[in-house]
Amino acid sequence: MDIFDAIIVGAGPAGCAAAYTMAKAGLNILVLERGQYVGAKNMWGGAFFGPVMNELFPGFWKEAPVERFLKRHVISFMTKEDCLSIDFKSSPGDFDEAPGFVIMRAKFDRWMGSKVEEAGAIIATGLEVTDFIFEGNRITGVKVGDEDFLANVVVLADGVNSLLATKAKLRGDFKAVDLKQGVKEVIRLPREVIEDRFGVSGNEGVVMEFVGSCTHGLPGGGFIYTNQESLSVGVVVQLSALLENKVKASDLIDEFKEHPAVRPLWRNGELLEYSAHLIPVSGINMMPKLYADGILVAGDSAAMVLGTGLILEGANFAMAAGIAAGETVIKAKEKGDFTSSSLNDYEQRLKSNFVIKDLETFRRAPHFLENPRIYNAYPELACGLMGSIFHSDGKPRRNTLEVVMESMKGKVSLWQIAADAMKARKAL
Ligand SMILES: Cc1cc2nc3c(=O)[nH]c(=O)nc-3n(C[C@H](O)[C@H](O)[C@H](O)COP(=O)(O)OP(=O)(O)OC[C@H]3O[C@@H](n4cnc5c(N)ncnc54)[C@H](O)[C@@H]3O)c2cc1C
Repeated sequence: MDIFDAIIVGAGPAGCAAAYTMAKAGLNILVLERGQYVGAKNMWGGAFFGPVMNELFPGFWKEAPVERFLKRHVISFMTKEDCLSIDFKSSPGDFDEAPGFVIMRAKFDRWMGSKVEEAGAIIATGLEVTDFIFEGNRITGVKVGDEDFLANVVVLADGVNSLLATKAKLRGDFKAVDLKQGVKEVIRLPREVIEDRFGVSGNEGVVMEFVGSCTHGLPGGGFIYTNQESLSVGVVVQLSALLENKVKASDLIDEFKEHPAVRPLWRNGELLEYSAHLIPVSGINMMPKLYADGILVAGDSAAMVLGTGLILEGANFAMAAGIAAGETVIKAKEKGDFTSSSLNDYEQRLKSNFVIKDLETFRRAPHFLENPRIYNAYPELACGLMGSIFHSDGKPRRNTLEVVMESMKGKVSLWQIAADAMKARKAL
C-alpha cells in the first residue's frame, strides 16, 4: 500500500493551503474531502482579506472567482425600528490595489482545489474520514469506512465540529458557549440593482454588519455582503444563548430581513440558497493541542478564528495555519522524524506569524462580547439619542448633554458605560 508523505483531511482553506504548500515542494499528498466536490460543503459570510492568499497565489484575484473587492464597510446599531450606521469607504480604486474581497466559497474553494491538483496533489472527494490508524501512540493513517490510507503525517483540517480532533485526543468535548451558529441566505438581484442600492460601481463591494435587535439582544449580529449578482444575508448567534433562550436562528434571519433598514436592500430578490454552519469563537481559549505523533491540526478544527465584534476572520487564519503545517511536514520529512518532538515546529511557526499573536491579543474579546448591553442597551441608546437630536417638536431645544443623560435613563448608567469602556480597552 502507498504511504503518502501527508494525508490532509478536508479541502477548505486550511487543507488546500497545506496541500498546495507540500505538493509544490514535491511531496506525495492525498487530500480526502467528504463533499462531492471541493467547496460543496462550505459556507461563510464572505469577507476575505487577501495577504496570505496572495503569498500562496500571487495576484490570485486576476484569475480566481472573486465576487467584488471591499470598498465599503458599514457597521450598524439597530433597534426594532431604527438603525444608526458608521459607513467607511476605503480608498482602493480597483482590484489590483484591493486588500480584501467578497467571495463565495463554493466557487472559490473549487478554484483553490484545482490549483492544489495542478501542483500535484491528489484530491479524492466524496470520502469522509471516520477514524485514524494508530501504531502505538502514533497516527499512521486514516480510515474511510473499511478502507485504510497510510501517511507519515495526517493534517487535520476538517473544520469546526472536528470529531476527529477529539478521537486523536487533541481536544475534549465541545461547549455551546464557544460556538456561534451562522445561518445565511443567498438572494439573487441584478448587478445594476445592487450597485444602485449599495452605492457602488463596477467590481466594488460592500460588507455590512448589524448589532442589536437582529439577534433579539443575544450575542452575535447580522450581515449583508454584496456578491456580483446576489447578496449574502445572514445572522450569527452564540449557540448557548440560542439554546438557553429557546430562539431559532432561522426565525432571527426572517426577522432581520424584515427590518425597515434591511428589507429595501434585498426587496424583489430571489432566494437561491439557504445554509447553516457553526463557527468556533473562543479563539485561543478553546484552542486544542496542535500536534501529536503523526498529526497536526489547522484552521477551524483548531479554533483559529478571530472575532472582535468588528471583524470575523477565519479563512486567513486557516490558510496561514495550513501553510505553517505544510512547511512543518516538509522539514519533518527532511529530518525523517514525524514524532511530536519534530512536529512541535508547527506551534513555533504559528507563534512567529500572526495566527497565535492575534488570538493572544484578542484573548479577552470572546468574553467581552458576551456582555448583553452591547446588543440591547447600547443600540437603543445610540438610536434613541439620534432620534432625539434629529427630532423637532416645536419646543426650545435642550443642551446635548441633557439629551444624552435623558436617553440613558433606564437603559444604562454612567458607571456601566465606564466599566464597559475599560473592558473594551483591554479586550479589543
Ligand atoms: C456564517 C459564517 C460566516 C463567516 N464569515 C467569515 C468571513 O466573512 N470571513 C472569514 O475569513 N471567515 C468567515 N467565517 C469563518 C470561515 O468560514 C472559517 O474560519 C474557514 O472556512 C475555516 O477553514 P477550514 O479550512 O479550517 O475549515 P472549513 O472551511 O470548514 O473546511 C473543512 C473541510 O473539511 C471537510 N470535512 C469535514 N469533515 C471531514 C471528514 N471527516 N472527512 C473528509 N472531509 C471532511 C468539509 O467538507 C470541508 O470542506 C465564517 C463562518 C461562518 C459559518
